[in-house]
Amino acid sequence: MYSSATTAPVPFAPMPPAPGAALYSHLLAPLDLGFTTIKNRVLMGSMHTGLEDGRDLSRMAAYFRERAEGDVGLIVTGGFAPNIAGWAKPFAGTLATSGAAKRHRVVTDAVHGAGGKIALQILHTGRYAYHPLAVAPSRLQSPISPFTPFALSARGVERQIRAFVNCAVKAREAGYDGVEVMGSEGYFINQFLSQTTNLRTDAWGGDYSHRMRLPVEILARMREAVGPDFIIIYRLSMIDLVPGGSAWDEIVTLGKAVATGGANIVNTGIGWHEARVPTIATSVPRAAFAWVTQKMKAEFAAAGIATPLVTSNRINTPEVAEQVLADGCADMVSMARPLLADAAFVKKAVEGRADRINTCIACNQACLDHVFQNKTSSCLVNPRACHETELVYRPVSSRKRVAVVGAGPAGLTAATVAAERGHEVHLFDAAPAIGGQLNMAKVVPGKEEFHEMLRYLATRVEDTGVQLHLNQRVQAADLAGFDEVIVATGVEPRDPKIPGQDHPKVLSYIDVLRHGRPVGERVAIIGAGGIGFDVAEFLTHGDHPSTTLDLPAWKAEWGITDPAAARGGLVPTGPRATPPARQVTLLQRKKGKLGAGLGKTTGWIHRTTLKMKEVQMVSGVNYERIADEGLLVSYGDKREDPTWIACDTVVLCAGQVPLFSLAQDLEAAGHKPHRIGGALEAGELDAKRAIDQAARLAARL
Ligand code: FAD
Ligand code: NAP
Ligand code: SF4
Repeated sequence: MYSSATTAPVPFAPMPPAPGAALYSHLLAPLDLGFTTIKNRVLMGSMHTGLEDGRDLSRMAAYFRERAEGDVGLIVTGGFAPNIAGWAKPFAGTLATSGAAKRHRVVTDAVHGAGGKIALQILHTGRYAYHPLAVAPSRLQSPISPFTPFALSARGVERQIRAFVNCAVKAREAGYDGVEVMGSEGYFINQFLSQTTNLRTDAWGGDYSHRMRLPVEILARMREAVGPDFIIIYRLSMIDLVPGGSAWDEIVTLGKAVATGGANIVNTGIGWHEARVPTIATSVPRAAFAWVTQKMKAEFAAAGIATPLVTSNRINTPEVAEQVLADGCADMVSMARPLLADAAFVKKAVEGRADRINTCIACNQACLDHVFQNKTSSCLVNPRACHETELVYRPVSSRKRVAVVGAGPAGLTAATVAAERGHEVHLFDAAPAIGGQLNMAKVVPGKEEFHEMLRYLATRVEDTGVQLHLNQRVQAADLAGFDEVIVATGVEPRDPKIPGQDHPKVLSYIDVLRHGRPVGERVAIIGAGGIGFDVAEFLTHGDHPSTTLDLPAWKAEWGITDPAAARGGLVPTGPRATPPARQVTLLQRKKGKLGAGLGKTTGWIHRTTLKMKEVQMVSGVNYERIADEGLLVSYGDKREDPTWIACDTVVLCAGQVPLFSLAQDLEAAGHKPHRIGGALEAGELDAKRAIDQAARLAARL
């Protein structure tokens, strides 16, 4: 018997390989950097979460500890500025002093205690800064910040270099295993590289050898300062996706210079933040940019450079990660959001339980969108992400019988969390399958990842022992004998009460998306919320395969090409969409831009896609009536300019109202049901809110 808590038992025979080792032999292979070994090929990519800001980093420590326990090979923190000028916004996380380094100890100790490795990202935002002290190579405002930066003097450039080096030294002092120098995404270093943002005529501007001097100097001096046994990752912009961006030969020249000039690992950055090409949204095909890193790998091989390369963007399953590595696209994969979605991603792959991974659906709704709203990030499919210290699922002390009515995202989450904690849970749904409205979301082209969410939720039902009762429409009388009842019955479509809406040409979004009812060639969509946009996408697509599943078609659609063929990797003639399958008009009553309420970081993609599909967007209308001619609309308070929109089909997407009659019946019978998701409030409801609310309720039941 082993008595020491610190001594691991020694097996008598060699341990059998973990089941994942055979499936993911490339992904799970260790990476030897000479002075240190990374246990697998997973790099957790840097992601700003809001936990970086402020003095207390204990929440960040808890967040990373769980990822280290989940076997991530190398974690990279969100960006920390090396000085005030480099702040992303006022008082953004900064590492410049020994006092700050001490505060980071809680993070590095937590990760090391869990057997992980962690590097700090050094992020200088340059002209992307959202504050008046911004600096840049030239005095040129970026399209994504209202602040015009100061152009740096030559001494100012020197000061920034010293700040980068000092930050790396402090990171080492704080116990980090390394740093990542952020050289991509259009930030400070990238701004020096590009001829459109660097108009300098001194030693830091002009031809490419001068423009690339900044990162080369930073790396050389940083390596000298931190010594040889400290990881330095350089994040290289491999395709800028902006007009006038870097040419391929420039990128290769810089790649080779950093790989031989101080970096132990070269990571891939895709697209500047101001690029008008989606790079991480759910409609982007999986591993859509692995080919760019693969090109660089060939260049490194030809030059005899062995520095490991990391590929990135839309890699969200172990299968995809394994494939890109097996194809020789890179030596490591960077995954950021997938590790928000599931802290145990790598561990589950190691154990051969990839079907149990909570897959990132690339929606950006709770991660990136939160950052832009100055809120702490989380994850739509995992509300515990970045809230590890506060949302805790503790085992129950007294087991209750719990009924959950409705197996949409709210009901599924409440049921599985309650069951995981130890309650006896019965989950009912009137439908023959779980998922509620997610079953409509998953059929929209570009939203295929919702299938993964449904797959994961089904496995959760199985693993937590929830007793599932499908095809059962529940009434109040059926719920006697339960200690707790959770009503998660969702919503029903709002009745817009438009004269003529009983005309045979009128369908609801449910008829179209769930029941596949035939739709004519010319369509008017009433309502331009998330569902109106999705229905327009669905109908203009027709029978074309989704470009999300067809990389060449997707690249052509967005005008992406090899950066060796055109600077920045953009086709000079621009995007080229396939012709729309139908002629669609999308309408709303409010004045102003359609889709204004869509996701902060994804709304522009939906609007651009529909414009490419020639969808007519009309705002400020009154719906007068529907008849054989089509839809009659007028404009303004005086109902002027009555106009017929000729159409064969009108689709109603006029919002939703809560379906809570069951809750009312229960209350009338003296029960106190809990209402969550759409059954509580339909206004601005989405799966993020439904899941978060459900998890929080089930955590305290
Ligand atoms: P629902 O999903 O509506 O589930 C309610 C369930 O209750 C249903 O399965 C129903 O059958 C069952 N039920 C009702 N009454 C009874 C009864 N008496 N007995 C038994 N069962 C009953 N959200 C996002 O966050 N991001 C997106 O990208 C997104 N895209 C969408 C695209 C489309 C096309 C649609 C339609 C919705 C989309 N949504 C999206 C919204 C999201 O799906 C909803 O906000 C979410 O499903 C609401 O969850 P819920 O569990 O409250 O209700
Ligand atoms: P929504 O976003 O509230 O949009 C409803 C639309 O209907 C609006 O355009 C509204 O515009 C119109 N409308 C409201 N009342 C009307 C009336 N009486 N007559 C005619 N038109 C009316 O709701 P939704 O599109 O049904 O989506 C439901 C929920 O699912 C939303 O909360 C959304 O967040 C979520 N969802 C999210 C996504 C996503 O990608 N994140 C995708 C799909 C759905 P006017 O009032 O100006 O006419
Ligand atoms: Fe992925 Fe969406 Fe979660 Fe962000 S919020 S990590 S995109 S699933």
